[in-house]
Amino acid sequence: MKLILLGPPGAGKGTQSVELCKRYGVPHISTGDILRQSVKAGLPLGLKAKSYMDKGELVPDEVVIGIVAERLKDKDTEKGFILDGFPRTVKQAIGLDEALKGIRSGIDMVIYFQTSPKVAIERLTGRRVCKNCGFNYHIKNMPPKKEGICDKCGGALYQRPDDNEATVLNRLKVYEDQTKPLVDYYSGKGILKKVSGDLGVNDLFKVLSGLFAEAKLA
Ligand code: AMP
Repeated sequence: MKLILLGPPGAGKGTQSVELCKRYGVPHISTGDILRQSVKAGLPLGLKAKSYMDKGELVPDEVVIGIVAERLKDKDTEKGFILDGFPRTVKQAIGLDEALKGIRSGIDMVIYFQTSPKVAIERLTGRRVCKNCGFNYHIKNMPPKKEGICDKCGGALYQRPDDNEATVLNRLKVYEDQTKPLVDYYSGKGILKKVSGDLGVNDLFKVLSGLFAEAKLA
């Protein structure tokens, strides 16, 4: 199962990736997570990426293509993977095609999470993340039992610096300008499937599981 989850920030790609990886036993490759870990660890990659991330701009293509090309060489990706938040530009998609050519066959399916801006904005601005285990909450839709504390591990919850309203609006604009053209790119390859990113977590998971069964990916 080699999948790309495509859609605006706030579409629920990250949440579904975690569940899908658990169910299908393939690794979750999120460029956003890799970049945030590099920022946290104070690595040169993180220092380079931080200023773009704080503004909601895209980190340069060659940087993220390099990250993913390296990650796809790891043995755990042999039986498949879920790419979340990559590619985000046509140049990155071409870079991914190149990287896969050298290693193994191409992507099986690209799932486009069609999501209304209102839903995406509400999800992102209300999101809270555990500093310790990374689990995601939402102040209205999925609040923790005790405010500011992770149910799973007791870690402190925080708001991602790029989840403030102004940066969220810019991230959605960047998505429209630079990432949405990928819908046509993958549609032209005949591997794009559309789902509604406005659905709740469980309903969307059922739709996705149905798609994979139909395509005999699972
Ligand atoms: P995400 O967690 O996917 O919302 O990504 C957070 C931020 O990381 C984005 O707003 C970008 O600044 C950066 N980022 C993540 N993935 C990519 C990518 N594929 N290309 C460029 N920048 C990225």
